[in-house]
Amino acid sequence: MIKVESVPCVGPCNRGRVEGEAREAGDPVWCRSCQRRIRVALTKIDELCTWVEGQADGFAGRTGGDGRGGGARRGGSPDLSPAIDLVDQVYGELRLIELDWRMIQGLSGSGRHGFGRTAYDRALVINFLQQHLASIMRHRKMIKPLGRILSYQVILQHMTHSEPARRDRPGRCPRCHNVNVLHTEDDDLIHCRFCPNVITEEEYDLEVVDRPDSAAVTESRRILGLDSE
Ligand SMILES: [Zn+2]
Ligand SMILES: [Zn+2]
Repeated sequence: MIKVESVPCVGPCNRGRVEGEAREAGDPVWCRSCQRRIRVALTKIDELCTWVEGQADGFAGRTGGDGRGGGARRGGSPDLSPAIDLVDQVYGELRLIELDWRMIQGLSGSGRHGFGRTAYDRALVINFLQQHLASIMRHRKMIKPLGRILSYQVILQHMTHSEPARRDRPGRCPRCHNVNVLHTEDDDLIHCRFCPNVITEEEYDLEVVDRPDSAAVTESRRILGLDSE
């Protein structure tokens, strides 16, 4: 077999690495952890956009506003206009990613739908991207758009979350096997402080909590003072 030199992952796992430090390898473009980040980001974007629209509709209904956050200002409720604008911007970006991918793959254009502006249209776009994500993540031309998905998730999250989700999580990192290194970040994913590993809640339950390593979980719960939970 020909030995292929591994190309570093283009994702956030390699951010801030200094010269000479080992870099996470791409698989083939993004590493497994970063692929997970993107997958979750897309789902979160969908949830956050739906939440923002739901809030805006609620405020509009109560105050007779125009549904774009204008009513919210009059009612003394949080101003949602920046979030609504961002939802529009994110949707536009997702549409472009779908169109780019259709072009690269030679898929027929917008025959499926005309890219309307409803929540349903956005769901179609997100559904398309989710279905093609595995191949999109293998394509180097799609690096920048996927990077923007990651940033949009963080921006939307900051705009809609009043409380940061950050907290330490007990258990052993399934990858570097260190204890007391896992913590939840603003993206609602569980990150390792020691290695670039990023896991979802489901993976945490499966690979950390349900793993026959209860001694490590108990020990780190004790150190973190989570015994009373
Ligand atoms: Zn990575
Ligand atoms: Zn780790």
